[in-house]
Amino acid sequence: MSATLIDGKATARESNARVAAAAAELKARHGLVPGLTVVLVGENPASKVYVASKEREAKAAGMHSTAHRLPENATQAELLALIARLNADPAVHGILVQLPLPKQIDANAVIEALDPAKDVDGFHTVNTGRLWSTGGGLVPCTPQGCMLLLSRALPRAAGAHAVVLGRSIIVGKPVAALLLGADCTVTLAHSKSRDLPAICRGADILVAAVGRPEMVRGHWIKPGAVVIDVGINRMSDGKLVGDVAFAEASGVAGAITPVPGGVGPMTIACLLRNTLVAACRQRSLPQPVL
Ligand code: NDP
Repeated sequence: MSATLIDGKATARESNARVAAAAAELKARHGLVPGLTVVLVGENPASKVYVASKEREAKAAGMHSTAHRLPENATQAELLALIARLNADPAVHGILVQLPLPKQIDANAVIEALDPAKDVDGFHTVNTGRLWSTGGGLVPCTPQGCMLLLSRALPRAAGAHAVVLGRSIIVGKPVAALLLGADCTVTLAHSKSRDLPAICRGADILVAAVGRPEMVRGHWIKPGAVVIDVGINRMSDGKLVGDVAFAEASGVAGAITPVPGGVGPMTIACLLRNTLVAACRQRSLPQPVL
């Protein structure tokens, strides 16, 4: 292995420590305790684990953290009524509705019902629109985490050719917007793109977010490139692997994120950052530099 490992766990720990320090200062100087509420509908085992982690980590950062758990058969009207109450609650600065939702509920309608100022997942169309236009909205967590990891490996990305594999609303598109905002030349590739290996070999920065275990092979990678692997794929033996064949890729790349321990830990870290930012904006306070 020649590539430098980009350590997501350490980066997340450092970010959380800065968020906790900023939250303590907000409390001391302004009596403001950032509040995060996570809404979970149903019994999806993975979602239950995620919600528990989000609750625990927000508390550890000194935030007010609550979770609302609705039964699997909750109706859309019940969920929308809860969202309306949370939108109106001044102690709640961030609302996250854990996805996926049960099939009787239209996830888009729920996301659009959130107050965009409290949409700490950054999925409301006001926030996605701001990401692609004026900026200043809440930035989706996983893409934000990718950029923080990238900045560790490549502090100046301007002018670099960035290839993003995957164009989902949750990862691919917002990562592409952020890379463009960082003055990269961006190629957004997807399942209909022709000759992915050749496209990838042109990348100084390669972000893989396809959900296909180890699809990106070593010979797809330009020597010295920075590789950010967003994929989380659980194999039949229980092992987690990314969208990049790590052993091969790390012999060619300049820097690479591991799976697990790369992008994964950054998602909750950025959720805490967004909650802090949302709380400051709602109280018209300057945003702490994190
Ligand atoms: P989606 O399934 O929503 O999107 C996958 C994207 O990859 C689509 O744009 C699809 O193209 C593209 N794609 C699929 N197969 C291929 C292929 N063979 N060649 C080229 N492109 C392909 O996935 P997500 O964006 O939600 O997630 C991607 C990965 O990231 C998953 O492994 C997921 O688990 C992980 N993830 C990790 C997170 C974290 O670290 N915290 C958070 C969110 C996701 P098309 O649009 O043409 O269908």
